Parts: sequence; structure tokens; C-alpha cells
Amino acid sequence: MLSLRWRRLVLKVGSALISPTANGCSTRYLLSIARFISECRAKGIEVVLVSSGSVAAGKSAIAFSHQPLPINIKQAMAAVGQTDMMAAWKHLFDFRCAQILLTHDDLANRRRYLNIDNTLRTLLSNQILPIINENDTVATAELKVGDNDNLAAMVAILVDADALIICSDIDGLYTANPKTHVDATFIPLVEKITADIYAMAGASHHSIGTGGMVTKLQAAEKATKQGVDTLIINGQKAASFDCLLAGQATGTLFQRQQDRISAKKHWLFHSLKTAGSIVLDNGATNAVQQKGASLLAKGVMSCQGQFDKGDAVWLCNEAGEQLAKGISQYSAIELQLIKGQHSQDIERILGFCPSEVVVHRDDIALR
Ligand code: GLU
Repeated sequence: MLSLRWRRLVLKVGSALISPTANGCSTRYLLSIARFISECRAKGIEVVLVSSGSVAAGKSAIAFSHQPLPINIKQAMAAVGQTDMMAAWKHLFDFRCAQILLTHDDLANRRRYLNIDNTLRTLLSNQILPIINENDTVATAELKVGDNDNLAAMVAILVDADALIICSDIDGLYTANPKTHVDATFIPLVEKITADIYAMAGASHHSIGTGGMVTKLQAAEKATKQGVDTLIINGQKAASFDCLLAGQATGTLFQRQQDRISAKKHWLFHSLKTAGSIVLDNGATNAVQQKGASLLAKGVMSCQGQFDKGDAVWLCNEAGEQLAKGISQYSAIELQLIKGQHSQDIERILGFCPSEVVVHRDDIALR
């Protein structure tokens, strides 16, 4: 069910829903999904869509029938189909959509990660629907996330989503494959993803119709560990979306393992090494500590260390006490030039302005 606590959702839609016959895009299942997205937005819930289907949508454009498809053929099909897939979504909405194509490398590189994060934040605050897919045309096997379930989990963590909803072609997780095991029972709630849970998917993994449950569990494990509730629902049934909107249970819910804010704080404090520090004036100290505000260049007195954009830094008060840890949008060299300046002057001083804030409030963890 759609929880009232959820303010931001990542919705993952697979190729089987976009291109059910693997030959071009179809609106067959997309209509109810698009209505769900529109209704969520009307309720004030932000949505990020992770959509597959570029290869399936572009298949018919290239005459090649041998299986498995070589990588260059798949990449060419994806290049054709990506625009068809975007067009299929676009004409179902009366608001603007944005295309974002990512590789694993983009998510692993901290500078690019920050740029993606900034772009997504800006799109969402302008009521634009981001539609994300893997950049199949440039991603070779080593650079690939590989499947959009895992990609969607990484995106959900990146955008601080409250929930990840994976639209599948079955109702959720069963104890075994329901198509081959008549005694398979449905599991509405998973409190923790254990080896036993993976074994249930393993049993049904190789059969058509439930294939891909393993990657869905991997995605759920990634997301729930970072405080994101994960739901696997049947995206082929309009009733699934009606249930969600009516606040009724549907699909399998994988419960978040911890609070999202504390997960992020934990990540900032314990996973990221600091590469320097920034000293804040009294006004900025108060704004960051008491009001949960972002740090602006105006409030920066000085900085120490050789940090780069995307590095973690300590935020200190004038007395040098460490107040918080945050991710800097600027390198130490850039910050030396813009400290104490108004945000609107950054462009003039540096010649570019990738961010109006030095440290975004979502990237600050107070001690
Ligand atoms: N990125 C691929 C596509 O759009 C699909 C990957 C997946 O379905 O997991 O065709």
C-alpha cells in the first residue's frame, strides 16, 4: 500500500511491460502505470521512473535474428529504441519528462554521482518526471549495472527515495514458482532478506514468467539496507495500482532495515573519509545547526585540505569544533576563490556555477 510517509518514490518498469511482444512499444500496460504516476504527483509524491525497454523497442529496426544478440547489435537496437520508449511515456503525460542515461561508472565516480544527484534534484523541484535507463549504447559489460532492478535500487538510494516499487509480471514473491508448484504460497511481507528468501527465488529463477526474481531481491536488499522500503508488485494488473492508491496491500513488501535518514547519516559518518574541512562563520553555523540549512559560499570563512568536488569534509565553527560532515560541491581550490561571496557571483568568479550551495542540506550529517 502507498504509505503516507512516502514523499519520493522510484518506480521501476521492465521491458516485458513496455514491449510485451518484444517488438516495439505498447501502451497495453503503460496506461495504468502512467495514471498511477500522475495520481502520485497529484498527491504531492515525487516520482522517478526507471524504465527498461530500449532494446526490445528497437529490435525490429535491425535485421538480426540469431540468439544471443551480440553486444553491438543490442547497443544499436537500444539506440533506436530509447527514443521510442521515451516517446511512448511522453505522450501519456501532460507534464514534462527528462531522459537520464547512466552507466555503473557514472554512479561509482563521486563527481559524476554528485552531478546526477544535482540534476535529479533540480528536475524534481521543477515538477519534471525523470525517466532513467542504463546507457546501453556506451556501457560495455564491465561498465554495466547489468539490470534495471539493481540500477533502480542505486537510483533510489541516490535520490533519498522513501520507497522503490518494482513492477513485475507476477504478484510478488512466492515460496516457489507458482507456475510449476501448485503448493507455492504468496509472501506479502519480508522483514529481512536472508539466504532462505534467495532460495525461494532460486527455485523459480530459470522458468519463464518469474525470471529475474533474483535481481529483484538483490535490488530489494540494497535498497532496504539503506532505509528504502521496497515493493514488488504485478505491473500488468491495473488493480495493483488501484490498491496502492487506495492504501491497500498489494505485492510483496520488503521492509526497510533502518530509518533512511540514519542510514544516510551512517554512510556519511562511517563510509566516507574526510579530505579536509570548511570553517563556517557564526551565521552559517547557526543556519546549518539550528535550521538544517544548506551551506552557502557566503558563510564560508576558510577551508583546509586538498579536497575535490564530491569529497566529504568536516564543517567546523569559528572555534574549529567539528559540527557536521558533508559532501562538498566545490574543490578546495574553487572554494578559496568563492568563500564569503554571494551565490549569484560564483559564475562570474569561477566562470561556471555547478551548484548554488557549497554543501547541500541533504548531504549534511550533524554530529
Ligand atoms: N537497459 C535495458 C533496456 O532498456 C534493460 C535492462 C533490464 O531490463 O534490466 O533494454
